[in-house]
Amino acid sequence: MIIIGQGLAGAVLSETLAQRGLRVMMFDQPQDGRASWMAAGLVNPVVLRRLVLSWRAPEMLAVAAAFYRDLELRYDTTFWHPMPLVKIHPNGKEAGEWRNRMKDPEIAPFIQEGPVDMPGLDRLEKGFGHGVVPRAARLDVRALLTAHRSRWIASGDLEEAVVGKEAVHLGSDGGEVLGRTAPMIIHCEGPFADLESLSPVRGEGLTVRIPGLGLKCIVHRSVFLLPLGEDRYRLGATYAWQDVWSGPTEAGRVQLMERLDSLVDGEVEVLEHWAGVRPASRDRRPIMGRLDRHEAVFNGLGSRGVLLAPWCAQHLAAHLLDGSDLDAEVDLARFAVRP
Ligand SMILES: Cc1cc2nc3c(=O)[nH]c(=O)nc-3n(C[C@H](O)[C@H](O)[C@H](O)COP(=O)(O)OP(=O)(O)OC[C@H]3O[C@@H](n4cnc5c(N)ncnc54)[C@H](O)[C@@H]3O)c2cc1C
Repeated sequence: MIIIGQGLAGAVLSETLAQRGLRVMMFDQPQDGRASWMAAGLVNPVVLRRLVLSWRAPEMLAVAAAFYRDLELRYDTTFWHPMPLVKIHPNGKEAGEWRNRMKDPEIAPFIQEGPVDMPGLDRLEKGFGHGVVPRAARLDVRALLTAHRSRWIASGDLEEAVVGKEAVHLGSDGGEVLGRTAPMIIHCEGPFADLESLSPVRGEGLTVRIPGLGLKCIVHRSVFLLPLGEDRYRLGATYAWQDVWSGPTEAGRVQLMERLDSLVDGEVEVLEHWAGVRPASRDRRPIMGRLDRHEAVFNGLGSRGVLLAPWCAQHLAAHLLDGSDLDAEVDLARFAVRP
């Protein structure tokens, strides 16, 4: 197999295929705005705005946790950090809605009510109490991609190169890319893909240092704050549907700092301002399947790529290797224009 793109989609798929005994060759050239490098890495099975479970959350979460833990063992490194997410209710109405939703048997196993006794929370704005998502996590996406990249380059299975359209050749037996041949070429190009079904969304965030805060959980109050260790936090992210390739903007920085100001008092140092483009699909579901007998796509991971990638990679592998049907909700054929 040949994979084009080593973001989260390409990296997770490459490991999934290799685990099934396949030889995989990858091509990737890191480009500005790539989604995975900018991802805060949040894994949250609950859509906080609507208080419902995210798409197929129980299944996605189980597959994701098992996949990343297994990869940590094989790479002998750490990037999967389970930790609770604490939502600070901004008003009594939202606190009441949270309590109400706890009676719904579907979401009940995923949400609890405060008070929460965790380090650092006492230094944050109190609001109207806390809701807790105990089964949240942070994936250190950069650590995973860095470990994956160095391994795959060292074994000669990842080459740094831009693959233009003219470099992809399809024949009757398979495909060829920059001198490498394989029975299948899989495009994992994220927001850079030329796919009509994509509706890219820019996101900006900040990496900040907040001395002495010592948070041990993820916090949400109109913005997410994720602890990275050593007093560093990721703050984000914004959503913008216009000028998605603009990179970091002053307006984004101001918006994020205002939200942080209303959450925490005291000294804050901005270490990095990042921006990337989420490869969202028009219907907010992943996009996968064959373009041709020897060419396939894995994309559309949107704003929850960490949670979705492992399940999606396994699902696509089963389709390509075992011939099992694609779920209609993720099959790229759903975007085909019907007469
Ligand atoms: C600001 C921001 C915050 C986010 N936060 C979260 C979060 O907290 N939790 C979460 O789950 N998700 C988050 N996401 C979403 C997540 O990042 C994406 O769902 C996921 O990373 C998409 O991965 P991908 O591999 O499809 O795309 P990408 O990461 O963009 O990877 C595509 C790769 O392919 C390469 N490439 C493309 N075309 C070519 C070519 N022709 N030749 C060679 N190389 C090529 C690119 O350079 C890149 O390396 C966030 C996204 C953004 C932008």
